[in-house]
Amino acid sequence: MPGSRDLDRPVQYVKGVGPRRAEALAKLGIQTARDLLRHAPHRYEDATTVTPIARLAPGMDASAIGVVVSKGVIPTRRGLRFFQAVIRDSSGLIECSWPGQPFLDRTIRKGDTLLVSGPVRFFHGRQIQPREFTVLARAGEPVEEEGTVFPVYPATANLTHRQIRKIIQDNLSELLAAVEEEEDIVPQRLREKLNLPHARQALEWLHRPPSLAHAEEARRRLAFEELFILQLLYARARYENRERREGIAFERVNTLVRPFNNSLPFQLTEAQKRVLGEISADMSAARPMNRLLQGDVGSGKTVVALFAMLRVIENDYQAALMAPTELLAEQHHATITELLDGLPVKVVRLRGGMRAAERREALEAIQSGAAQLVIGTHALIQETVEFQRLGLAVIDEQHRFGVHQRLRLRQAGVDPDVLIMSATPIPRSLALTFYGDLDVSVLDELPPGRRPVKTVLRPESARPRVFDFVREQVAEGRQVYVVHPVIEESETLDVRSATEAYEQLSQDTLADLRVALIHGRMPAEEKDDVMRRFVEGSIDVLVSTTVIEVGIDIPNATVMVIEGAERFGLSQLHQLRGRVGRGAELSYCIVLYSGRSAPQRLAIFASTLDGFEIARADLRLRGIGDFFGARQHGLPDFSFADLERDEALLHMARDAAASIIAADPGLERPEHRALGAALRTVYRERLRLYDVG
Ligand code: ADP
Ligand code: MG
Repeated sequence: MPGSRDLDRPVQYVKGVGPRRAEALAKLGIQTARDLLRHAPHRYEDATTVTPIARLAPGMDASAIGVVVSKGVIPTRRGLRFFQAVIRDSSGLIECSWPGQPFLDRTIRKGDTLLVSGPVRFFHGRQIQPREFTVLARAGEPVEEEGTVFPVYPATANLTHRQIRKIIQDNLSELLAAVEEEEDIVPQRLREKLNLPHARQALEWLHRPPSLAHAEEARRRLAFEELFILQLLYARARYENRERREGIAFERVNTLVRPFNNSLPFQLTEAQKRVLGEISADMSAARPMNRLLQGDVGSGKTVVALFAMLRVIENDYQAALMAPTELLAEQHHATITELLDGLPVKVVRLRGGMRAAERREALEAIQSGAAQLVIGTHALIQETVEFQRLGLAVIDEQHRFGVHQRLRLRQAGVDPDVLIMSATPIPRSLALTFYGDLDVSVLDELPPGRRPVKTVLRPESARPRVFDFVREQVAEGRQVYVVHPVIEESETLDVRSATEAYEQLSQDTLADLRVALIHGRMPAEEKDDVMRRFVEGSIDVLVSTTVIEVGIDIPNATVMVIEGAERFGLSQLHQLRGRVGRGAELSYCIVLYSGRSAPQRLAIFASTLDGFEIARADLRLRGIGDFFGARQHGLPDFSFADLERDEALLHMARDAAASIIAADPGLERPEHRALGAALRTVYRERLRLYDVG
């Protein structure tokens, strides 16, 4: 197919590009002609968004289009140099002013047609200070007719909006012709049903929309395509899991589950019962479970997981519990040992830094099957730990436990069940997008009798009073966390700030109390030792980095002081707050912020204890990348889809994908061929993970 070959050629060979510009385009993620064609404008300007110059009034934030009639660099008394240009349209004239950017004198020429956007103010007459500008046409070049919509593209160093726009416009007809020759990957029937334009049409409207409404229709179609492809991958993965993977059907033996249930000192919540029902149904089936268990901190996930693990053990299989850190593994070990007291279950803890002999003994027990419940970090699957008969892996707080990691658990063609636990509540649209191949259970109810944590925001200047309060609480027998944030992703600095705080507190402010320090760089034994002393109550104040973020459960700790709160995401703050309020006493979360007033996001945090509400706010404020943290990889990178706005589209994509895979799992029918081919070429890597094609 010559057409598709055209589209897949390196962008360098597109007319007007060449090697230098290809390098600049690569910075925008554009490698091929196809990528160029899908380079999305970040906004549009047209008659409805552009204000006639005569109507620009001080106080407005507006866009205008005009021809440069005069320009120059103007020095000010304070030495700052301004570039100024006067632009004109059919209605009038206005001055544009760029403080401190005299170099624009070389970029902008008399006679150029400019699109400028920014605040309008009054300064010896009306003036606009462009935040953004685009040269729509050079002097002498024809300007598009009135009523045209101008796409404004994300630009990069060495390549301006205008150059990108020109490259795209100059090649558009030819590229669209190549698209025309290809089959649309969204089958016609589906396009008709969902009222989506053909790819060729959408791409034309993307770059040359007759109106803003057409531009939005184009975006919607291309957004659908992104969501649809991802949902097809998930649908395919679920199909694989259901039809082609061999799992273990666990019986209801009840020799451990029943006595465990009877020994619990509390009643399960309704949510716990419901979720246990969902997990139990998965476990009874002869296909592997792939389930995400979501529940706010303290909602009782560990107990639920324990039921599942006991079911596996009473079926003569082994269960493994993997935590993100040694600290949490230690804590799980302690809790589980206590909860299982009196039940005949052999629990083995595999720890980093174990003595060789001790480690060999543990590994042998795991390999022989004597170890029934194995607790360790995620390294359990990375290392060469051999299980005799692994039946269930419970993964705590590892949101991106991907397919390839799951495959490592496979033994002799049989996939153990996998239960992923997460205390980070995520909105449903995100769950469908990021964990679309998992079934999701939600614990949306806290055990009764919890007292809500009192959250207060305090300026740093109030620190002395905050520590007076800490002292009072300690005098009443309570324990306290003081947490310091990660500083710019640097663990070293992170450790330093906690260490300095520790020295200050232990030698000065709280010299009369028992203060200890814990952070991720300490040797495992030392950390374990500190944690053990905190659990025993022989430490009053624990200064830490975010290592205590997840999972730690110490009911007597009632005060959480969070330093440098601006640096935490809301969801992370919520996680931290979950470390207190776990006992009968009233608990406090004291958030210290720098600056004069608390940022609005902290006010949101203080106003609610609902993890889902906080997650939604966090997502709104920070966007998806930051929501999951910079270190998380493998997130789908959408150019067109916006998960908040396109939730309806997402559900359509999911339903469409599910029905296509149900009818034609191999995407072999003629109307699905283009789709199958696209998945195979564009998403080869992911498909490999899902064992497809
Ligand atoms: P999560 O892992 O979801 O943060 P945990 O499973 O650690 O929560 O449970 C938090 C605490 O609540 C634990 O001390 C646990 O024993 C207790 N707990 C769990 N379920 C219940 C329940 N139904 N009623 C009372 N307490 C419970
Ligand atoms: Mg837990």
